[in-house]
Parts: sequence; structure tokens; C-alpha cells
Amino acid sequence: MTRMLIMGPPGSGKGTQAARIADKLGIVAISTGDIFRYNVKEMTELGREAKQYIDNGDFVPDDVTNRMVADRLRQPDAQHGFLLDGYPRTAGQVEALDAMLAERDEKLAVVVELTVPDEELVARLLHRAETEGRADDTAEVIQHRLDLYHEQTEAVVGSYVERGIVARVDGTGQIDDITERLLQAVYSVRERTGTLPVVSKVDAGDAES
Ligand code: ADP
Repeated sequence: MTRMLIMGPPGSGKGTQAARIADKLGIVAISTGDIFRYNVKEMTELGREAKQYIDNGDFVPDDVTNRMVADRLRQPDAQHGFLLDGYPRTAGQVEALDAMLAERDEKLAVVVELTVPDEELVARLLHRAETEGRADDTAEVIQHRLDLYHEQTEAVVGSYVERGIVARVDGTGQIDDITERLLQAVYSVRERTGTLPVVSKVDAGDAES
């Protein structure tokens, strides 16, 4: 059972990698960006509340985001570990997540941060704009999302660095190689902090369950 975060600037590939490593570790990947986009598409109340912020590349207000994550973590599939992708991004969200976990008597084991140079991020996102047409992938909004990452979310990573649970992973190169690096990083942090789950001999071939 692993409870972990994947962090990284927009365009770092965290969504792709989150799905892959969650699958390997047998845990659910929860992407706040995906949940927001789904709600916008379905025009739910949450979607209507969030749309303007997302289109402008701003953070959805903490109270809305925190409530959504708290609800999601109460679902049955999140009771046996989870990988949060895109949350927390602000100091207020770190505090909220700490409170949610404390209530469950749980702790985060690992935070992985994908690093990619800004020039490559911009190039990747502009390319994605052509193929996927996300409303927030215009040059101006991309720059704003990157600025917010540097201004606020890097400090969030810093607060987890102080807890000794962060591994930084090079997010450039082949997708498979990056997945391998991430899994290795998860394993190293857990070994170093003594939070590796006990695996029975029978299951030892699998990553963990
Ligand atoms: P990216 O990391 O490329 O910006 P995401 O899919 O993770 O893409 O997020 C898309 C948008 O969803 C963000 O720009 C923001 O508007 C909203 N969002 C996602 N997660 C959060 C969060 N934790 N707090 C506030 N807003 C969020």
C-alpha cells in the first residue's frame, strides 16, 4: 500500500506517468486536472465553478479543490493507497491534505517530482495544443501556468523535501525510461525512510499490492 504524490510543472508528463506507476503499484491515480475537466465537460455545478479558472490557467480556489479531493479520497478505491496527480499545489492545500490524512491516521510515503527545463515544457505544450486542443494550452496561458508552478508549487515540493520524502526525477527522454526512473525513486525513498511494505514471498515478484 503506497500513498504518494507526483508533482511537476505543466507539460512534465505527470499525467501519463501517474497512470503508469499507479498501475504498477496497484493503486488508484487521482488527477485533480482530469476531475475538473470531466466536470467542465459534463457541466456539473463543480464544473461551472471551476471553468473560468481552468481556462485562464489559474488555480481553482482552495476551498473548492480541497472539498473535491476530500470527497474523492473517501471513495472505496482510495482506501488502499493512492497517487495524487496535481494536488496539492498551494500551501493551503498542503495543510488541507495533512488534515485529511491525519483524520485517517495515514501518512504520505513518497513525493516524486518530475523535472523538465522550461523551454522543453513550452515546446511540448504548444505541440499538445495542436493535437488535443486544450483550452488552456495557448502560449499566454501556458506561461501563466508555468509561473504559478514556480511561484507556488515549487514551495510545496520544498515543504515535502523538509520531510525527507521527495525524490527528483529527470522527466526528459523516453517515456518507458522515465517510468523506470520513477519506480526506482519510489523504491529508494521507501527503503531510506523505512516505509517499504512487507511483501510476502509469494507476491515478491510483483512491485507490491
Ligand atoms: P497542468 O499541470 O498541465 O496545468 P492539470 O491537468 O494538472 O494540468 O490541471 C489543469 C488545471 O486544473 C489547472 O491549471 C488548474 O486550473 C486546475 N487544477 C488542477 N489541480 C488543481 C489544484 N490542485 N488546485 C487548483 N487548481 C487545480
